[in-house]
Amino acid sequence: MYDVLIIGGGAAGLTAALYTGRKKLKTAILTIDVGGQTLLTDNIENYPGVDPMQGANLMSKFREQAEKFGSEFIFGEVDHIIKKEDGNFQLNLSNGETYESKTVILASGKTARKLGIPGEAKFMGRGVSTCATCDAAFFNKKTVAVIGGGNSAMDAAILLEKFADKIYLIHRRDEFRGDEITVDRINNSKKIETVLDSIPKEVSGEDIVEKLVVENVKTNEEDELKVDGVFIEIGYELKTDFVEKLVELNEIGEIKVDDRCRTSLPGFFAAGDVTTVPFKQTIISAGEGAKAGLEVYRYIQGDKANISIDWK
Ligand code: NAP
Repeated sequence: MYDVLIIGGGAAGLTAALYTGRKKLKTAILTIDVGGQTLLTDNIENYPGVDPMQGANLMSKFREQAEKFGSEFIFGEVDHIIKKEDGNFQLNLSNGETYESKTVILASGKTARKLGIPGEAKFMGRGVSTCATCDAAFFNKKTVAVIGGGNSAMDAAILLEKFADKIYLIHRRDEFRGDEITVDRINNSKKIETVLDSIPKEVSGEDIVEKLVVENVKTNEEDELKVDGVFIEIGYELKTDFVEKLVELNEIGEIKVDDRCRTSLPGFFAAGDVTTVPFKQTIISAGEGAKAGLEVYRYIQGDKANISIDWK
C-alpha cells in the first residue's frame, strides 16, 4: 500500500514525487518513460536558475532528486483505476499488475497526435518520426517532409535545416498558426519549401520511407514527393478516457482541477499538461507538481497536517 501513486514521469510527476518523498510519504511513479514531453525539447532556455540545457539532461536531474528522497519507479501503463469502498485506489496496469494507494496524482501529460494515414504506423521509427529533436540528426544531407503549421512544425523544419538538404513543410491551410518571427524564418529559408493547402495521404517505401503522397485540398491533385523522412508535428492529444468515469474533464479531455490540484474526486489529484491549467510549460508543470505533492500530504494528514496553505 502506497501513500501516493503518481501516474506519469514528466516534470509534474517527478516534482510531485520530490515533494511527497520529502514528506516521507510512500511514493511510486507509475510511468512508461521518464522525462515526458521535456525530453523532446532540444534546448531549454526558460527554466530559471539553470543554464540552457537539453531537456533530457534537465529531466535526469529531476529524476535523481525524486529518487534521492525515496520515490520508486514502476514501469507500465495504467489501464483502469478503481476507487474502493475503503476510500483507497486500485490501479490496474495493462500487464495485469495491480497497485494500491491512499491517493493518486495524475500527471500523465500529453502525447503526439498522429495522422492516421497508410504507412504512418508501418514506417514509424523507419523514417517516420514525431520528434525532430530526437531524430533530425539521422537525416544528414537527406530530403524530408514536415507536416503541420504550428510552432512545433516550424521549429522542426528550422532544426532540420542544420542537417537535411531539403525540407518540405506541408500544411493543410495557406496560413501558418505559429509565431510571426518564425514564419519569416521559414519564408526566408533556402532549404525549406512550403507546400500549402495540402494534406498527406500515404507514406510508402520498401523497408524505409521513400515517398510521401500529398493531395492539394483545393485542386484535389495528388503529388508524390521523394523523401527519406516524414516528421509529424501536428500537435498533441490527451489520453484521459481511462479516468472519464472517475473525474470531471473539460470539453477537450483535460482534467478539471482547482487551484490546489484537486479534481472532482477526493484523494485524486492532477498536475501538469493533463489538466485545465493553461500554458503547457516545463516550469509550470513542475510548480503544479509541487502543489499536488503538498496537497496530497495535507489530504493524508487530515487535521494533523503541519503545513498551512498560505504558510502563515
Ligand atoms: P498546434 O499549435 O496545435 O498546431 C498543430 C498544427 O498541425 C496546426 O497547424 C494544424 O493545422 C495542424 N494539424 C492538426 N491536425 C492535423 C492533421 N490531422 N493533418 C494535418 N495537419 C494537422 O500544435 P503545436 O505546433 O505542436 O504547438 C502546441 C503548443 O505548443 C502551441 O501553443 C505552440 O505555440 C506551443 N509551442 C511553442 C513553441 C515555441 O514557442 N517555440 C514551440 C513548439 C510549440 P491548422 O492550423 O489548420 O489547425
